[in-house]
Amino acid sequence: MIDLHTHTTESDGTLSPRELLQFAQRIGLEAVGITDHDTFDGYDSAAQFAQKVDLVCGIELSVRCGGRSLHLLGYFLGGGPPQSIRRWVKSLQETRHARNLRLVELLSTHGFAITLDEIYDRGGKLPGRPHFAMILTEKGYVNSRQEAFDRYLGEAGVYHVSRDEPTMAEALKIIAFAGGVSSLAHPLRIVKQRDSLEHMARRMQTDGLMGIEVYHSEHTHDDTIFLESLAARLDLMVTGGSDFHGATKPHVLLGTGTAGELNVPRRVLEDLRFRSQHARNNLCG
Ligand code: AMP
Ligand code: FE
Ligand code: FE
Ligand code: ZN
Repeated sequence: MIDLHTHTTESDGTLSPRELLQFAQRIGLEAVGITDHDTFDGYDSAAQFAQKVDLVCGIELSVRCGGRSLHLLGYFLGGGPPQSIRRWVKSLQETRHARNLRLVELLSTHGFAITLDEIYDRGGKLPGRPHFAMILTEKGYVNSRQEAFDRYLGEAGVYHVSRDEPTMAEALKIIAFAGGVSSLAHPLRIVKQRDSLEHMARRMQTDGLMGIEVYHSEHTHDDTIFLESLAARLDLMVTGGSDFHGATKPHVLLGTGTAGELNVPRRVLEDLRFRSQHARNNLCG
């Protein structure tokens, strides 16, 4: 069993990188990919503890595409990411901090008792909107985190503050330049209709998209079969994982996803390794 999509306390997960690895080992995962939002810190700190589990370096980037924000995964299989992308990711983190500050100011102006310190106490080095949602729920402004997104924080919410995100095309270029493999995260969250999804994936591929997340907790068996055939038709690499967040999304289990139905084939990682080695060789000329 492998799982190439997980989050730690370095983004919006609730297990520390070390705890995640221990848990992965306990349930017998052969490989685990850490794909924290906009940071390599979870991977970096897990790297020192990885002994029995094959640790894969990943990242989940929020990117702009066609006026929307969506999630792009990047995998770095040759011993982690190079400095070029690390520097770029640092610059992305600045825009997240700036957004957090603007969001706290906006909420305060509208009478919500919420401070930047509370956000950082809860979210650590790099808090995101899920941490705002938790605090708004705990303080009784909303009944659930989902309500916090629907009413206030989400793209349709009244206090939505957009972040200065990189474009999809820019992120694809940076990942490729860094010798990584890009993959469109949970594609059915972006478009449900299958022919539109195919159309979108083809367009992204012309911008340099290399892979697509075929296996994910939110995919039904039928979705998975469709995505497998789409990846084969477009010659896209295949990735997959649970999108484990710990207690933030308790219904999503590490390795086995929702209702134990996820099963990411081991060959997904073997193919990724093979293809990314090939890509890196080409990069070096
Ligand atoms: P951020 O990266 O701080 O902008 O927060 C993005 C995260 O917030 C996503 O990864 C989701 O977990 C969550 N999120 C964003 N929009 C929604 C929404 N409409 N409903 C529920 N969760 C959302
Ligand atoms: Fe998340
Ligand atoms: Fe995501
Ligand atoms: Zn994720």
